[in-house]
Amino acid sequence: MDADQLKRRVEHSPAFILDMPQVHCNLQPLQRIKDATGCRVLYSMKALPLGALLADLKDRVDGISVSSLFEARLANAVLGGQGGVHLTTPGLRPEEFAELGRLCSHISFNSLSQYRRLHELSVGYSKGLRVNPKLSFADDERYDPCRAHSKLGVDVAMLQTGLPAGIEGLHIHTVFGQTDFLAFQAVISKLKPFLRQQSGLKWLNLGGGYLYHRIAELGPIIETIRYLKAHVAEQVYLEPGKALVGNAGYLLTRVLDSFDSDGKTVLVLDSSVNHHPEIFEYQRRPLLVDEDKQGGQTAILAGSTCLAGDIFGEYRFHNLPAVGDKLMFADVGAYSLIKAQRFNGYALPALYLRRNDAFVLVKQDGYAEYSGQWLG
Ligand SMILES: *Cc1c(COP(=O)(O)O)cnc(C)c1O
Repeated sequence: MDADQLKRRVEHSPAFILDMPQVHCNLQPLQRIKDATGCRVLYSMKALPLGALLADLKDRVDGISVSSLFEARLANAVLGGQGGVHLTTPGLRPEEFAELGRLCSHISFNSLSQYRRLHELSVGYSKGLRVNPKLSFADDERYDPCRAHSKLGVDVAMLQTGLPAGIEGLHIHTVFGQTDFLAFQAVISKLKPFLRQQSGLKWLNLGGGYLYHRIAELGPIIETIRYLKAHVAEQVYLEPGKALVGNAGYLLTRVLDSFDSDGKTVLVLDSSVNHHPEIFEYQRRPLLVDEDKQGGQTAILAGSTCLAGDIFGEYRFHNLPAVGDKLMFADVGAYSLIKAQRFNGYALPALYLRRNDAFVLVKQDGYAEYSGQWLG
């Protein structure tokens, strides 16, 4: 996306901009996998549950995967029965289960205990089980579903004597942000003996965690899905989240203040880690479109809250940005706005969609939303 054009045409700051042409572009490798294998693609809406996005995706994906009752309700409101709604969560509530069974086409139980206590509280949905292959790829166990004592899925070793009656599908989700299919192949080869033992599975959900647009060679996953459809289950689902929206999201911000602190320049922005808490949680430095890696000057970009660690990172510039200049972070479309909050009483970013050549203001957060949250 042309950063200068965006800065000129997006009025509000801070603003979150979702680039719809990029979302459509991100669907292309998934469409190729679908065409080659006949598998189905769901959007994992927790990455960015924006209604306008879901409505746009409705005719481009085979359904939505959800983690909760509210997500299931929102998915149904948008899909209106067109496409499946697939749920898995460690947090199923008994009092919600009857409604979930009506809203969801597929529910993958997270544990055998959860399955036993809840599966009969509703009818009409297809029952599955989330399986944990116990194969770790993340170096940070905070986002490793296969960590020791994991709460996510049934250890495959506990299923050697067979699946509970009525289970029609299996769900596997083990990785995050992968840019090749090595983990995918390792998981499938570890699970292959187990999967081959199951007869008559209707579906296999292979989860999310792969950045398809960054993987040039789709051959390995195509071959594996063909194998799985031939020998393991009638249907195979993929449910990417970040792969569809991550690189399509931008955060536009403005420099509010500039000063020296112990010999380094600090630029205070009108955004903060409030708007992308993972920057703080995982101490990741987001991509800044305006950075000049060869630039001779550096500045610390800091957020506007009272938190000392509310810092985006240190960046290089040819000329240091001045107070009033706009800056743009890229690759922030996933797991940002959905985790955003109003700590210190700062509003959420204004929300824009880019469609073709238009930048459309979708939503603006203001005092009404802040007071609505806290006045009671
Ligand atoms: C979060 C999640 C996804 C989507 O993951 P991405 O890394 O955003 O692709 C898919 N399935 C399950 C079960 C998840 O928890």
